[in-house]
Amino acid sequence: MGNKQSNEKKIQESQISVNQSQLSARESQLNTSNSNQSNYAKKEQIAQELYFPSSDDCPSKINITLGGINFWSNYDSGNLFKVEQVETNTFNLSISEDCQGRIPPVQSNKGTRQWFNFKVVTASDFQANFVIVNIATRFKKIWSADSDIYFKINKIWNRYPAVYQGFQVKFSFEFQANQIVQFAYMPPWSYKKNQKYLDFYSSQLHPDIYFRRETIAHSLEGRNIELITITKNGPSEQQPYYCTEYLFPEKQFNEPLKKFKKQYILISCRIHAGEVPSSFILKGILESLKNQNESAEYLLQNYVFLIIPMLNPDGVYRGHYRLDSLGYDQNRVYNRIVKFPKFNGPLAVLEICKNYNVAFYIDLHAHSVLTNSFIYTNWHPNPSIHSAILEFPKQMKQKVHHFRIKESMSTSINYEKSQYEFEGIYTEKEENIQKAPDLKIHITKENLVPQNMTSDCPFSTNPYLTGVAKSDVYLTSSNMFSYTLEVNYRYYTKNKQVFKYEISDFINLGRDVVESLYSVHQNQDFIQIKSQLDGSIFN
Ligand SMILES: [Zn+2]
Repeated sequence: MGNKQSNEKKIQESQISVNQSQLSARESQLNTSNSNQSNYAKKEQIAQELYFPSSDDCPSKINITLGGINFWSNYDSGNLFKVEQVETNTFNLSISEDCQGRIPPVQSNKGTRQWFNFKVVTASDFQANFVIVNIATRFKKIWSADSDIYFKINKIWNRYPAVYQGFQVKFSFEFQANQIVQFAYMPPWSYKKNQKYLDFYSSQLHPDIYFRRETIAHSLEGRNIELITITKNGPSEQQPYYCTEYLFPEKQFNEPLKKFKKQYILISCRIHAGEVPSSFILKGILESLKNQNESAEYLLQNYVFLIIPMLNPDGVYRGHYRLDSLGYDQNRVYNRIVKFPKFNGPLAVLEICKNYNVAFYIDLHAHSVLTNSFIYTNWHPNPSIHSAILEFPKQMKQKVHHFRIKESMSTSINYEKSQYEFEGIYTEKEENIQKAPDLKIHITKENLVPQNMTSDCPFSTNPYLTGVAKSDVYLTSSNMFSYTLEVNYRYYTKNKQVFKYEISDFINLGRDVVESLYSVHQNQDFIQIKSQLDGSIFN
């Protein structure tokens, strides 16, 4: 019933989907009538007033035949925008920027041309040269000529050599007649695949494990943002709890999430749509819990795992690299959820952290530029508490051979800078720092923390990075054990040598998250600090 309602909502929204002329008219109206309003504020106003996207309005999804070859991307997580035949067997391919041609994205979509995922079939045997002509510039530094893409034939994904040069990715492929070949930046983890995986996962669980799967929110386009609950010694100590009107949309039909008298570990994933390695990390975490070794057993007995496997399902479906369907980077909106409650994924994360006894929060990501795996966390002025916060990254360093403690940065905000400089700034650094006084961020002098540095933990000093999950969970719910786990898509370096990640490395990284969460509980200093905090802060 809930799904039916959501589909109806989707249909209504698609009917009022704005056309380009409406959009231009409103843009010029705003430009002339209110010249003091920042570009950012104008874009946001348009998005809120006019634009409710429909799933059909998706230029990244095409299906064309050219020179005897059929190219298509009109499926979940597909992204191919344009194909041009430049010679008999040479084709220029363009991928879509997030939200390309639909609305001016509210946040910058510069650099979002990275994810590609399309299928090809030829009528006869054919040797083709493909050039993806518009990949994002950020590859220049890190990707060498000796790189690759992935392709799938008969359900098996493999690496395939490709040359990355500037804006281009070049590769040749020998097609056999009528054989469907899928090409992608990484083996995709689509919205549908995520659901299938969870179906399979839940069917494999030992009956000792308490497991729930429900919709915690709908995305703007009506897709399910799912919440998984996993623990042991199930529901005996629950108290009913509803979060807000936006959460648990099917609560009238199902029994809603209840509170346990245990602490929680919250893990979320795919707020950045194209960051597929994070789904493989999550797979490793889930498999590890399913296998119930000593570490998993301890954690399941002592904690309730709450897992949101896909925070941005619309972006994933659309084949976006980073943004949602309105062109927001949802990992920069956590400080202003109340302003625009369509951010139901981030809203779910914050409401859980505010209303449940969350001991650890880990948001899973993938990084295009920095190599290896590493963690961002928050800085705390009390050295013992800060050391307890760093215990999880330190355990990761011991277990994961490609983990870099050097880049396990804490966010710090320079206390010396006046509060004025932070007030109202809401954008990313590379976007010419705009001031939008109507959007007050909630960093106050009390929230600002002095810059500090230790040998094993150099701090990031970017004060403009606001609205990020791990920071806002800390600022709004006092949960300081809040982390962003990153892994590079392709590379790690060790002893000055460069290595390529395999998918299995990401899955093992997830397993090591579980092992490290267990190991922090073996450290007496950590236990002592944590129990003091639990007495004063968490209750
Ligand atoms: Zn990310």
